[in-house]
Amino acid sequence: MVGAGHAHIVALRRFAKNRPDAEIILINDGPHAWYTGALPALIRGEILKDQARLDVRALTKACGATFIDANYTGHCERGGAIHLSFQNHDSIACDLLALSIGGKTEGGVKPIPALLGRIKNLETLAAPKIAIIGAGAGGVELALALRIRLGKNAAIFLQSPESGILQSAPARARKIAGAALQTAKIIVTQTPPEAVDETIRAYTPEPALAIRPTLQLTTSDKIFATGDCAKFAPPLPRSGAIAVRQGRVLAHNLSHVDCQNFHPPAATLAIMSLNDADALAWYGRFFWHGKWPMRLKTMIDLHWIS
Ligand SMILES: Cc1cc2nc3c(=O)[nH]c(=O)nc-3n(C[C@H](O)[C@H](O)[C@H](O)COP(=O)(O)OP(=O)(O)OC[C@H]3O[C@@H](n4cnc5c(N)ncnc54)[C@H](O)[C@@H]3O)c2cc1C
Repeated sequence: MVGAGHAHIVALRRFAKNRPDAEIILINDGPHAWYTGALPALIRGEILKDQARLDVRALTKACGATFIDANYTGHCERGGAIHLSFQNHDSIACDLLALSIGGKTEGGVKPIPALLGRIKNLETLAAPKIAIIGAGAGGVELALALRIRLGKNAAIFLQSPESGILQSAPARARKIAGAALQTAKIIVTQTPPEAVDETIRAYTPEPALAIRPTLQLTTSDKIFATGDCAKFAPPLPRSGAIAVRQGRVLAHNLSHVDCQNFHPPAATLAIMSLNDADALAWYGRFFWHGKWPMRLKTMIDLHWIS
């Protein structure tokens, strides 16, 4: 299993239980799996780093699996086995491969340790200027959290596509989020003519690994991919909630010959914090605003980390 993405966190425990005879190796480029759901609270200074990340070494040990801290660079199928290569580790051969390495882009939010370092540097500036590209739930949440962290002297720009912020949210939710951004003096720009939509596309490239409903690659029965690195048909939103659901199917399909299909949910519950007390939640065309969505979000975040 390469990458400690959400699907692998879920699948590892189940797969290890289903197949105690299998030798399972989890490879991640670092000892932690960061949880973006808790990132805004971490940026606002409400929680500590260990409340926003999982100790992957401890998790693998508890599952009777092996952890390797290495940077995966590619694989090839040869002589009935899959050969994995790494930047900082000898190659490994295996019978089945699962990839859950996320959709990080150079200079983007991930890897999170690098982002936290950049934010720390911004704190040393008297009047930092920040542009956030992409005004989905992650971008809006990040902009609001940065305002709380960096104070009123920071100039924060949020670049949204021409269609506006929170494209998948109901209209009333978009309005409330827009008002919160205005109150926080975050400048939402849709700088025409070419820049924004193209830049957003450049930072959120299409996932490279085309998969079937069984989560197997279209090109191999022995290789699976899940989460933000996998390209499903029809396209799925980039979401931990979807990846977690894929993890349950992945655990079954790694353990059994008769593979199950992953059926994407028609809608998932989205919860976005506006500050330390209020959140905005939506599910399809329904939405809620205020303290209880925030309490629910905190409960979900704590549950995931624990
Ligand atoms: C600010 C923000 C808030 C968000 N909040 C939410 C939320 O509340 N709910 C929600 O559902 N989604 C949320 N998202 C979206 C969510 O982060 C992703 O969609 C989700 O993390 C799915 O990613 P993943 O599980 O595929 O991979 P990731 O969570 O990105 O994990 C990939 C793992 O693979 C490792 N890795 C990467 N490359 C390599 C390599 N070459 N070799 C070895 N290991 C590697 C990484 O270190 C990481 O541990 C948020 C996003 C942002 C930016």
